[in-house]
Amino acid sequence: MILPEARLYIDGKLRSAAGNRTYDNIGPWTGDVVGKAADASPEDVAAAIAAARRAFDTTDWSRHHERRFELMRKYRGLLQANRDKLVQISRLEAGAAIGAAARAQVDGALGGMDGLLECFPRVVWEEDRGVRHEYGFDTKRLVTQEAVGVVGAITPWNVPLYVNIGKVVAALLAGCTVVLKPAPDTPLMGAYMGELAIEAGLPPGVFNVVTSADPATAGEILTRDPRVDLISFTGSTAVGKKIMENGATTLKRVFLELGGKSAYIVLDDAPSFPMVVAQSMVVFHAGQGCAYPTRLLVPRSRYAEAVKVLEMAYASFVDKWGKFDEPSCIMGPVISKRQLERVRSYVEIGQQEGARLLAGGQVRTDKGPGFFIEPTCFVDVRNDMRIAQEEIFGPVLVVIPYEDEEDAIRIANDSIYGLGGAVFGTTERALRVARRVRAGALSVNGGMSITGDLPFGGYKQSGMGREWGREGIEEFLETKAIGIRAS
Ligand code: NAD
Repeated sequence: MILPEARLYIDGKLRSAAGNRTYDNIGPWTGDVVGKAADASPEDVAAAIAAARRAFDTTDWSRHHERRFELMRKYRGLLQANRDKLVQISRLEAGAAIGAAARAQVDGALGGMDGLLECFPRVVWEEDRGVRHEYGFDTKRLVTQEAVGVVGAITPWNVPLYVNIGKVVAALLAGCTVVLKPAPDTPLMGAYMGELAIEAGLPPGVFNVVTSADPATAGEILTRDPRVDLISFTGSTAVGKKIMENGATTLKRVFLELGGKSAYIVLDDAPSFPMVVAQSMVVFHAGQGCAYPTRLLVPRSRYAEAVKVLEMAYASFVDKWGKFDEPSCIMGPVISKRQLERVRSYVEIGQQEGARLLAGGQVRTDKGPGFFIEPTCFVDVRNDMRIAQEEIFGPVLVVIPYEDEEDAIRIANDSIYGLGGAVFGTTERALRVARRVRAGALSVNGGMSITGDLPFGGYKQSGMGREWGREGIEEFLETKAIGIRAS
């Protein structure tokens, strides 16, 4: 066993699941057991909800803005001090390569937390809306912001620390109390956040973590329980729909960050056209990123050139992935056997649909006993093919030619999703196109549109609400109007 056991964190204490039930934490590099995790029972989940409810209802947690800010700053320091452990967990449990672990998995997550901490002082807790004379008397009015209450945070496995922080830290800063339910594949990242919460001195009950082997049960309990006020969910669109449905009986606030099939649009006047095309390869963390632009749109007038560039770029990457100990490596295995099968099945689907496999597509058992599949690129793709419409969530790029700028925008928007996107061209023109792409985060010429101090979220079936930034904290607030009779 390489990693410590992921234990439940409930009401300020780390503990085992009822009956000491555990399950195996499988590592993507080896396909083997890398640790154990507590397998929470429905009673354990109920205990976590009860603790969060008690902490919200009977303590002053939600009213002490300064105290929460100080505790979260301390927590940030502890996460930094334990950076190496976090990197180790993301490598072994989430299958991150060192180059990806150090960036998006851990440093990106900690940078995101800095963004939230920077935004916190900008939250307006109370606003004086002045005096209004109506019905023959004066009323002095206040509009206040208050924490929503108990939050159920349900997170995926691809960038566990990043998503956990985006929800847990924002909700705690807002004054909510939280029950975090990490994905079954990445229990330790959540459990370790619980361990550090003890060290940071978070009051018992304000933050709780429940891990479980079954993907749905604990999340469904959280979604249906009337004591939970808000569900903040990141994951697939299919499960997001289920959560909305299950949350409807108690009219829960539901916040959803879902899937994507974002477009990477290269305009014909893009400076450094070959370099920009080469950089569209979907390889970072094996393509397991929700806002990853996985549809490359290139002008038909430069299509042949783009295909040639990609052929060379993929050929030069052949030996650069799947290396556990290589610091510059940014692509490892996919998370699980199930995910490997899913990606492999899309390679078959693409071929059946008549797209041309330019590179990759093979499962690579020679890379090790884990879940390795080659960086893959399909060209001659039409946007109505399944490989262009459905989220694959693996290292697969599809390349689609377009006729002109209008056609590029039309293709980019011809999707049920609308999460991210990238546009490359002369700045003014690229910005014009970016403004018309129906998605929540757009990068122009490589600019960063996803950082902790900016709102992030999807249009259409990519979700609802915004995470990160001031908006991400305000997502966990309710608005109250108060009228005080003044004459
Ligand atoms: P998933 O939807 O299968 O699971 C996400 C979480 O929901 C897990 O914790 C899972 O245990 C839980 N869950 C499953 N069924 C549930 C139910 N019925 N009720 C409540 N909870 C339930 O997603 P995944 O496979 O873990 O992650 C991949 C997906 O996540 C992709 O679709 C990806 O696009 C999406 N994602 C989105 C973002 C974003 O910010 N938009 C970020 C990362 C990942």
